[in-house]
Amino acid sequence: MVAAMATPKPAGTKAIRGAAPSEGHAAEAVVARARRLGVMGWVRADGDRRLLVHAEGDRQAVDEFVEFLGDRLEITPAKVEGHEQFAIRGVPAGVFVVQEHAATARHFDLRLEVGGVMRSWAVPRGPSLDPAVKRLAVEVEDHDMEHNSFEDATDGGGVIVWDRGTYEQGGRVPWPEALTRGHGVFVLHGEKLRGGFALQRTRPGEKAQWLLIKRQDDEAQPGSDIAAERPESVVSGRTLDELLER
Ligand code: MN
Repeated sequence: MVAAMATPKPAGTKAIRGAAPSEGHAAEAVVARARRLGVMGWVRADGDRRLLVHAEGDRQAVDEFVEFLGDRLEITPAKVEGHEQFAIRGVPAGVFVVQEHAATARHFDLRLEVGGVMRSWAVPRGPSLDPAVKRLAVEVEDHDMEHNSFEDATDGGGVIVWDRGTYEQGGRVPWPEALTRGHGVFVLHGEKLRGGFALQRTRPGEKAQWLLIKRQDDEAQPGSDIAAERPESVVSGRTLDELLER
């Protein structure tokens, strides 16, 4: 992060934030134009009436982009943030699931759909909604999407579907490149887990170690421990203990 801040801002760049009426501007068309112009940033639908836009890059390209969005665009100056793509925000990139798994040791498995497979991390103590809590997450092998709904006893253990839903890919770097570089920002829309999270790799290599951290937002619950407070399956309502007692 320090390196990014120390990078001098290239001459002739600018950034704007803006809101435009969405009539006549499909988000996809905005993305297509931004990419053609080489403008970086994002567009997000704000309700059904407005598009919110962050655009940055070559001054002339940004000006052309602003012209494309029309004179009803309300612009506020913004800082160049170093985006490496122009993307649609607020649109799910795929599904996620968290399965609680009793094997040799009990743990939670966080899985995010990336490129047709479920990228997976074993989280011994489970996710937290408290931004002050950093949970160890050990990268494990990808799983098939068919496994997402698996909930049953296994040889010597069991699995419940602890949470599931869709998620958005965030951050300035496009996925899956963001994960390759070791920093993934994402927004979960689950039953228990909601809002922004970050996965930060702390030790690369085999069984890479990451930290799973809740980002500070409206869904953050300081002082809470959701894994303890909501132990039940979102599919069956039973806990892993109840499943193991059968
Ligand atoms: Mn597991």
